[in-house]
Amino acid sequence: MTVAIVGAGLGGLALARVLHINGIDCVVHERDTSRRARDQGSMLDIHSGQRALREAGLIDGFRAIARNEGQDMRLFEPDGTLLLQEDTPDDAGFERPEVDRADLRDLLLDSLPADTVRWGHAFVSADPDPDRDSDRGLLHFADGSSASYDLLVGADGAQSRVRPLLTDARPVHIGQNTVELGIPDIDRTHPDLAARVGRGNYWVLGDGLSLAAQRNGDGRVRIGLSFYNTGEDWFATSGIPFDDPAAARARLIELLPGWDTRHTALIAACDDTVVPRSIRTLPAGLTWPTRPGVTLIGDAAHLMPPVGEGANMALLDGALLGLALAAHPEDVPAAVAEYEHEMFERAGAAARMSTDIQALLTSPDATRKMLAFFQPG
Ligand SMILES: Cc1cc2nc3c(=O)[nH]c(=O)nc-3n(C[C@H](O)[C@H](O)[C@H](O)COP(=O)(O)OP(=O)(O)OC[C@H]3O[C@@H](n4cnc5c(N)ncnc54)[C@H](O)[C@@H]3O)c2cc1C
Repeated sequence: MTVAIVGAGLGGLALARVLHINGIDCVVHERDTSRRARDQGSMLDIHSGQRALREAGLIDGFRAIARNEGQDMRLFEPDGTLLLQEDTPDDAGFERPEVDRADLRDLLLDSLPADTVRWGHAFVSADPDPDRDSDRGLLHFADGSSASYDLLVGADGAQSRVRPLLTDARPVHIGQNTVELGIPDIDRTHPDLAARVGRGNYWVLGDGLSLAAQRNGDGRVRIGLSFYNTGEDWFATSGIPFDDPAAARARLIELLPGWDTRHTALIAACDDTVVPRSIRTLPAGLTWPTRPGVTLIGDAAHLMPPVGEGANMALLDGALLGLALAAHPEDVPAAVAEYEHEMFERAGAAARMSTDIQALLTSPDATRKMLAFFQPG
């Protein structure tokens, strides 16, 4: 059996690792040319996904790189009022630690034989119809090369090119546009702001917008400024000059009228990396008729609002598909059907919960509702 995984994100690598420890060969085809080709982004809150790391034999390695104190939370009003402060006790268990995405990806990559990931292999198409289970299928890559497979697993993220083999569903904009910025080496460059942000999350909820700052393991504070109930063309009409970072920061501060200068000082201190990100999701509870030679995991299967579930689901998908294949090595269609049945239920529930939290964030009385969310009863 040749399992071809498209995408070396968390889902694809978790699958490769579980297959590896169960003696099943696989190849991961990744578009990026190396593990460092692209910035891997911010911290991840890993909770249910820890089960996947346990199944992958990597839970001790995970705990060594996880940051419990990254869970700390400070919630503010735009006028500077502190609404909530939660500091993680030193003896807290590893329930929802934060981890740098790049560190977690490295943990998975380093646990695989060196030739498992084929870098610079951008998947373009599969041929023949992967519905056929008698013959092996053929994958085609952008560099003109090809590779055969028995099972094709699309682990290629939000803009999956494997997904159309199974469903016509496409990600749809959810009325959120986010600008990502960051303050490098904050302890040295801005010790006053470092103390204000603290060890974990610093969150300001305004009317129709929010600022989320988070300390990363490398000393960078990553900031996301989200504008809710905004259209797909919002970046074009917002007046933010993304090609002029200093002017972009000034414009972003203008878009926060009445905000306390202690909040806006965080924007002013950012470096020149200013990245626009439009938020899109797939319909919550998306399913498709099971086909024997192809399946999806992670964001390719269930892209949901970014409120802390997606990476956990991707890790679980990879590990649970790997376990299903290990349990039915002679019957790939049965393994795929078993995996999809469980995944549709689990990911559907996570997507509905994420959609509810997203609705809460974008509602007129978001601050009070979020406070009630963090302090139930
Ligand atoms: C700002 C932000 C914060 C988040 N925070 C959290 C959090 O705290 N907790 C949480 O659980 N989730 C979080 N998420 C969601 C999480 O990041 C994703 O759900 C998760 O990364 C999905 O993993 P994946 O393996 O499915 O896809 P990805 O991580 O996107 O990996 C897909 C891989 O496929 C490769 N690829 C794409 N196209 C091709 C192709 N044609 N050929 C070959 N390779 C290809 C890509 O280069 C990439 O390496 C966050 C998301 C965002 C945007």
